[in-house]
Amino acid sequence: MNLVYPLFADNMFATIYLLVIAFCFGAVFASFITCTACRVVIGEDWTKGHSHCDSCKHELSMLDLIPIVSWLALKGKCRYCGAKVPARDVIFEIVLGLAFAGTLAFNLAVDPVVIQTLVLEVLLLGLSLADYDNHIIPDGFLLAMLIVWIIFVGFMPDTQGYALDGIIAVVVIAGIMLLITLILNKVLKKQSIGMGDIKLFACCMLFTGLYRGVLTLFLASMIGLLIAAIGRKKKIAFAPAISIATIISLVFGGTLINMYFGLIGG
Ligand SMILES: [Zn+2]
Repeated sequence: MNLVYPLFADNMFATIYLLVIAFCFGAVFASFITCTACRVVIGEDWTKGHSHCDSCKHELSMLDLIPIVSWLALKGKCRYCGAKVPARDVIFEIVLGLAFAGTLAFNLAVDPVVIQTLVLEVLLLGLSLADYDNHIIPDGFLLAMLIVWIIFVGFMPDTQGYALDGIIAVVVIAGIMLLITLILNKVLKKQSIGMGDIKLFACCMLFTGLYRGVLTLFLASMIGLLIAAIGRKKKIAFAPAISIATIISLVFGGTLINMYFGLIGG
């Protein structure tokens, strides 16, 4: 079975069509995962029940739930009670839509590696939101990441090499991170980096492998510092930084690493 569907550089229409579809899928999944993340955090059953307005509790119809479009059409208000619907949700829909389209455009193919990255983007958005809002990374999301990895390993061009690379990255990079955390905890006499962050990092390492894993660690530290510098929150959520770093490493990592070695190699 040929799972690779290359985007045709000479067929502009097909390429644009596919990117628009990818954007729409991204927006729909963002809408789903933001709702799921909220429910998981407050302990609601995310598999059951209809979406409802947070203010008036009115059940929302399909027309109210079209990503981006509904929000624009209703001018960011609830159709029933007129309460403001936060623009944040729409921003995430646009962001994940762009991430989907960007991942596809940059890889110029629809293959297992790309599909796995798209699934990962959805999960990382969900757990980043949970961490940002409530400072917890639900284990369910991490378990889902693990299952995705186990399933997709079998579809990789070099299954054995891919699996080994991921496991080595977990042991080496996440292992070093755990060691540093334990030492810091002893010295500072308080929890320095959360265990949830380390578990998330270990899960991400499975996908990035060793080289991209080092890049992810570097990027996550930079993004984390940036969020800490511009954020007003006392307690910093690291999951968004780790998530953004992981996606950048997966999508652009090969190019960035080549550029780096090109620079130091002269
Ligand atoms: Zn309402």
